[in-house]
Amino acid sequence: MEKTVATVALFSGMDRELSYSVPLELDGKVWEGSMVRVPLKAFSSVGVVVGISDVSDYDQSKYKLKKLYSLVQEEPVLSGDLIKLAYWMRDYYGCSLQAVFESMIPSVVRAGKGALEAKEVFLKKLPTAEEIEKIKKRAPKQAALCEFFAQYKEPILQSALIRLAKTTPQAVDALVAKGYLDTRNRELNRAAFEDDLSSAEIISSEPHPLNAEQQTAFDDIMGDINSGKFKTRLLYGVTGSGKTEVYMRAMKEVLDAGGSCIFLVPEIALTPQTVGRLKSRLGDCGLVVWHSGLSDGQRLDAWRALARGEARVVVGARSCVFAPLKNLKLVIVDEEHDTAYKQDKNPRYNGRDIAVFRASLCGCACLLGSATPALETLYNTNAGKYEISRIRNRIDGCKMPSVFIVDMKREKVGAMLSNILCEKLAARLERGEQSILFLNRRGYSKIFECPDCGNVKECPHCSISLTWHKRENIVKCHMCGYTETAPNACPNCGSPKAKWRGHGTQKVEDVITKMFPSARIGRMDRDAMKRRDNYRKVLGDFRAGKLDILIGTQMIAKGLDFPRVTLVGVIDADISLHMPDFRAAEKTYQLIVQVAGRAGRGDGHGEVIIQTLHPEAAPIQYAKRDDMESFLEEELANRTEYSYPPAMRLVRQIFKSRNDDKLAFYTEEWAKRAEKQFGHMCQIRGPSPAPLERSEDFYRWHIWYFCTSVKPVVAEILKLRKSLPMPGVDEILDVDPMSLM
Ligand code: ADP
Ligand code: ZN
Ligand code: ZN
Repeated sequence: MEKTVATVALFSGMDRELSYSVPLELDGKVWEGSMVRVPLKAFSSVGVVVGISDVSDYDQSKYKLKKLYSLVQEEPVLSGDLIKLAYWMRDYYGCSLQAVFESMIPSVVRAGKGALEAKEVFLKKLPTAEEIEKIKKRAPKQAALCEFFAQYKEPILQSALIRLAKTTPQAVDALVAKGYLDTRNRELNRAAFEDDLSSAEIISSEPHPLNAEQQTAFDDIMGDINSGKFKTRLLYGVTGSGKTEVYMRAMKEVLDAGGSCIFLVPEIALTPQTVGRLKSRLGDCGLVVWHSGLSDGQRLDAWRALARGEARVVVGARSCVFAPLKNLKLVIVDEEHDTAYKQDKNPRYNGRDIAVFRASLCGCACLLGSATPALETLYNTNAGKYEISRIRNRIDGCKMPSVFIVDMKREKVGAMLSNILCEKLAARLERGEQSILFLNRRGYSKIFECPDCGNVKECPHCSISLTWHKRENIVKCHMCGYTETAPNACPNCGSPKAKWRGHGTQKVEDVITKMFPSARIGRMDRDAMKRRDNYRKVLGDFRAGKLDILIGTQMIAKGLDFPRVTLVGVIDADISLHMPDFRAAEKTYQLIVQVAGRAGRGDGHGEVIIQTLHPEAAPIQYAKRDDMESFLEEELANRTEYSYPPAMRLVRQIFKSRNDDKLAFYTEEWAKRAEKQFGHMCQIRGPSPAPLERSEDFYRWHIWYFCTSVKPVVAEILKLRKSLPMPGVDEILDVDPMSLM
């Protein structure tokens, strides 16, 4: 008799596939992607079926296959494209399949819990008036139930019934025993896709008639979708050019035709407006907002709603690229350049790149949107791998803001705000217009430096200086979180002349409050936003005009649309410029353009002030001339010259240890062997200490591999890992790294 064999990849225990025979009673119910419980040694374990075959493929005498135990979820947990994607990620990022599954399948689904069930009460037979009279005398709670059901004949959840009829579970049981009522269990849907889950306010958003540029972009995208083939397109539109409107139109078309969509945003809490617009426009198709605030129950329900096709749109941060949607037709990555798409723990994947790859597996369209595309994306566009649609103008002829560069070398030494910025702020306050002040550093001051001995106060566990948080009077490490009471003299020589230098958002708030006592000021950074609701509150107040000035870190640079903002001040444009990172110029350009894009979105004309000590730096010069295309061209040429990405692919390997001698020894040994084993496949640079030499008491070194093809190099690294044990040294592989610290 025919028998079926399932190949199963386990979620934990053993990182390799095992084969099991499918018992007869489960035949025809176990598919590729099904989650099953299987015997493993003396225990049982859970995993995903990654392949199904006939027993004829096996020599029965050799393989006494164990039977798998049971099916954990009715529906398959992974579709065919996701299984392929999982294997690709394993080989590309050099991680285990188990690590991929942990990212792909929410833990509540992996745990194999069923849906939540609740008791539902329904009427079997209504007692007669006489009987009710009798019940009333002896059991008023039961009588209340009878009266309730005299009015309401539908099945109802017991919990709701007890509340509405003001009765007790005992009374329900009694009437069940008497044969008037009955109960059954009903699967509960916690309706994760209906309630008010995220910080989103529903913004009623009527479709605007598209302008000519939007229409062309929309037609291009619809062409991709209707081609029924895999296509990737960059929607390169300046800030405020109406990209979101175009996304929503395309999504609506897809949904109306029965397809489904994924919409990725860098950080869901920072995009309440976009989420609100999507909800109001597409909510009818079951919109799931996938965010970290979901309870396990909500997450499970949302996930099942997507897997069953009850919900066909999902919006969320990077991990929702793995949503189990069927009939996927469109994947949108908004603000595709954002580094938040890169996961900074294992597996270190980039949500944008996964989106493109998943679309290729599904044969559908992928749309990458940005006002400041990543160089990687432009490179792919130039190479003809991606198509491009441009929107060069803002909506309704709103002009791009005017940009002024202020050379801080000409201001008072150590000044935080230039004269011109102060004047323009005052003018805004007088006219009742709003301003945004941007500084990408939280806390009060950055460096505690002693003029007598030159000592700079550093974290005892990391090689970075401690930041002063004046309000709490503590100093804090922004890497590991170490805190201590703020010093008032040099900790090295005791000199009282030691001083704080550098500014953070707390200081900006203090100074502005003193300068403009009547101004209403809000601050948005990670310290001020400890609670989730705070975002909503501050952003809501700012939009409602209850605040005049919003101060913040990069949190406020992202996609926010405030029509009344006419001034944006970038207090220190040099922070990102001086990072030891080949992307420093690119990141500076993205930041300036994005922050500047917050100005002048409404009727008033916008102005942007950029303060810098390096007005000659390329991204700043090009920003001033509003000529980002030339900047990108120049930057792309630079990268190519030095074989940096995107011209070459980069794999970075970090080695860490508490013992720096051991670390240096093994890292050099590793580099030597790597050169011998696969030096012909790539260019190896290093080893050298990482820019952040020490973090949380670990010393850090790194090696860079520049190559044209990642997978073979990763495979060689994994091979070397097996043949060179490094006791006491940890090693991390980062493919396409975004952070180079
Ligand atoms: P982007 O995503 O490119 O920054 P948005 O889609 O947020 O731009 O659009 C900016 C503003 O312009 C929004 O308030 C939006 O409602 C409005 N808008 C978009 N398209 C149109 C249009 N065709 N006509 C009028 N207003 C539009
Ligand atoms: Zn000193
Ligand atoms: Zn530290």
